[in-house]
Amino acid sequence: MKKERGLLIVLSGPSGVGKGTVCGALRQEDTDIHYSVSATTRSPREGEVHGVNYFFKSREEFDHMIKNNQLLEWAEYVGNYYGTPVDYVEKTLSEGKDIILEIEVQGALKVREIFPEGVFIFLMPPSLAVLRERIQNRGTETEELINNRMTVAKEEIEMMDKYDYVVENDEVPLAIERIKAIVKAEHCRKDRLIDKYRKLVEVE
Ligand code: 5GP
Repeated sequence: MKKERGLLIVLSGPSGVGKGTVCGALRQEDTDIHYSVSATTRSPREGEVHGVNYFFKSREEFDHMIKNNQLLEWAEYVGNYYGTPVDYVEKTLSEGKDIILEIEVQGALKVREIFPEGVFIFLMPPSLAVLRERIQNRGTETEELINNRMTVAKEEIEMMDKYDYVVENDEVPLAIERIKAIVKAEHCRKDRLIDKYRKLVEVE
């Protein structure tokens, strides 16, 4: 019998909202959700590991990936390039496993065109003040970069209505519970199951 494809889950949200922390915590938990590691031209932040957080690439390497159709989508974000390697996504889905992509809004919109059946989740901070504070606390960015990220963040929040779900990241464990509940419910969506159960009736 043909294996059902896994769910493609996209998680976006403004810079600093905690997408990385939420995805990291999801990865630590024993869920069946696989994580897509993106390629980026940005330099590693302290503690970030090649192949775990990102595949860190030079501009030339990134261009090569684009030219060779190795990226499902890519986008420029605050002066750097980010993209989703297509092979791992395809492999995971065809094995019937779920995969989560943590990507910004432009990339998410491109993914929506390719995978309209995907599950699109927008992670929201409790307030803009909390968002600025979180970016500042990260301590890795200059004041100018923080302001750029806040401007982009406000534009990103405007795009919320392109998503299927909004999850507030007030506390990471709560945000994770909400995401897991969404994934569980999406697996029960009639459109995903109707063919399977119709076949059962036909066999009778
Ligand atoms: P950061 O530099 O803070 O790690 O990421 C900056 C932004 O790029 C975040 O919004 C993050 O979700 C997004 N991002 C990370 N990987 C990808 C990707 O593969 N594609 C796109 N379009 N955005 C990504």
